[in-house]
Amino acid sequence: MSERRALVAANWKMHGSRASNAAWLSEFIAARDGLTCEAVVCAPYVYLQQLRDQLTVGQVGAQDVAANTAGAFTGDVSAEMLRDCGCDWVIVGHSERRQWHHETDQIVALKAERALQAGLRPLVCVGETLQQREAGETMAVLSAQLAAILHRIGVEGLLRGGLAYEPVWAIGTGRTATAQQAQEVHAALRAQVQQGASGSANALRIVYGGSVKPANARELFAQPDIDGGLIGGASLVAGDFLAICAAASV
Ligand code: PEP
Repeated sequence: MSERRALVAANWKMHGSRASNAAWLSEFIAARDGLTCEAVVCAPYVYLQQLRDQLTVGQVGAQDVAANTAGAFTGDVSAEMLRDCGCDWVIVGHSERRQWHHETDQIVALKAERALQAGLRPLVCVGETLQQREAGETMAVLSAQLAAILHRIGVEGLLRGGLAYEPVWAIGTGRTATAQQAQEVHAALRAQVQQGASGSANALRIVYGGSVKPANARELFAQPDIDGGLIGGASLVAGDFLAICAAASV
């Protein structure tokens, strides 16, 4: 890690209930004071108000946002609506959205732009599949994903949020990229951002996601270009999420 303040975001995915969230939040709130990292909780839409009521400004995130601003888009939630309800962050381009909802690089980039226009901070995800990694296509895939984002929101836009490297083969599989594999990719992503804006890439937070657990968080976060994590499964247990936040707070 570097002088960049670490960012650790929980991605609860489609998990939770008012009761289980309340228990999680009270455990988190009781212990969060010692953390120096920035901690964000990304919950299903219906629970954002519950989070807003309990967490401090800057800690509430959604998991997706509409690519349109308003209109006949049944089931969608706009960036303006999220902001109106006190949401701070939004994950865009998670591989589960790309895979199950057929979100292209262009849609992901548009969503990031909508988020920024509404005053939300986008945490933009990029990642390669196992097949792409084994075919030696990792950097080509990531570079195309990142280029689409930079084309639409620029380095300045990305700096208002953050970038998450999430190898698809490591998400929810218990198979983590090694610290070295992740560092290599993070450094390459930062170099690509650097090409578009001299100097500013140093300020960009690039977090790693993919089976981060309390046991492997410290080694990952010790890498010079890994600035925190996006945490799925382990974030469902408040104590595990807190331990991961603590690993990012050293
Ligand atoms: C994720 O969904 O963003 C993620 C990283 O999940 P997990 O930590 O469970 O691999």
